[in-house]
Amino acid sequence: MEKGLISVDRWSQGSQAYLLTHLHSDHTSGLTSAWSRGPLFCSRITAKLFPFKFPDFDLSLLRVLEDGSWYSVPLVSPSSGSETVVQVMAIDAHHCPGAVMFLFRGNFGCLLYTGDFRWEADSERAKKGRTILRDALKNDVIDILYLDNTYCNPSYVFPSREVAAQQVVDIIASHPEHDIIIGIDSLGKEDLLIHISRKLKTKIWVWPERLQTMHLLGFHDIFTTKTTLTRIRAVPRYSFNIDTLESLNAMRPTIGIMPSGLPWVKPTKGNANLFGSLLTSHYRRSRSSSNGGKADEMTGNLRSIDRFHQYIYSVPYSDHSSFTEIQEFIELAKPINMKGIVSASACYVEPLYYFGRLCGVRQTSQTLYVKHEKEEEGKRVATNESKYCFRDFNPNAEKRKRKNTALGVYLSRVSALRRKRCGAKIVESESSI
Ligand SMILES: [Zn+2]
Repeated sequence: MEKGLISVDRWSQGSQAYLLTHLHSDHTSGLTSAWSRGPLFCSRITAKLFPFKFPDFDLSLLRVLEDGSWYSVPLVSPSSGSETVVQVMAIDAHHCPGAVMFLFRGNFGCLLYTGDFRWEADSERAKKGRTILRDALKNDVIDILYLDNTYCNPSYVFPSREVAAQQVVDIIASHPEHDIIIGIDSLGKEDLLIHISRKLKTKIWVWPERLQTMHLLGFHDIFTTKTTLTRIRAVPRYSFNIDTLESLNAMRPTIGIMPSGLPWVKPTKGNANLFGSLLTSHYRRSRSSSNGGKADEMTGNLRSIDRFHQYIYSVPYSDHSSFTEIQEFIELAKPINMKGIVSASACYVEPLYYFGRLCGVRQTSQTLYVKHEKEEEGKRVATNESKYCFRDFNPNAEKRKRKNTALGVYLSRVSALRRKRCGAKIVESESSI
């Protein structure tokens, strides 16, 4: 696609149309109430939530894309000055409320930008998404897939959200005398909270702004801001830490539950907020049982739950696709080429590294860029990018990457970095991998 036409989840000037996949803050960095650089395309739910996040935004800039329909966006070619039309379709990403992926079609070919997504094997919404994508493509081929590669590593094996939600219910039910706090973001994990509420027949406390969001999403009876009505509270993720849990336990027995695809790191000095993540062999272990772990994934028991602290459970409830789901998605999309939208770390690799063989790219022309970082006088310093050429899976590179994953809390800072690097101006220079 020619430069200067479209940006996705990126808000600096220089494009004629802007598209927002969803409202998580790592995708809205640079977007403000005063932003007015052009029309902003998003899903209907995102448009509904938008004024709450950006109160004085000029809403006449919003353009709603209904799920599964093609829209033509007339733009002007910066190079020729003539009109060019880009077609775009939003498809449910099943990540958080309003999250969509975008399929583009035009004289540049066909591109798919997933944003953050989770398409589980048995999810009805994902099944619908697959049908829409197949029908939309017909005989077209995706030239470039921009992919959510958050968990693009074979270590990331976790169950469906349905199974993980039941694990959360089981933990709560096994602590009948405890107060419960659950760490969540300002958007997302609603299905988990609703599952808990229905199974345990209780309301769930949320903070006042979150209650407004719940009401905007149409959930009127399940959530409350009155602490006396329930022992289960969903709290902002940033306030979920050991200090909080210890303070609460000084008053009443309380446990914390952190739903995430990432196992959590025990805090060290300077990392008291339990912010980080660490790849461990934990999920690999749970997967190594018979049937490649399928049985474990489906039982819904608590064997795969880690208790990282006496007051804290980590439950593998993820709104991003697991490694296996990423592979299944690539097999469905059959792109000619692809590029990860998470690009800022040593441990998150380009999907071509693992899945290049599934693409139509000539293997000899594939290159992979992995950022290396080194410790230098106590500081991490990004070195020049290294270039790897490969034909197939490279066991030495895998060993090297595993070694990186042993660096503990260091990865947590990397995972913070990745949140700043989402979004793309959809231009040809970005697609040449
Ligand atoms: Zn997100």
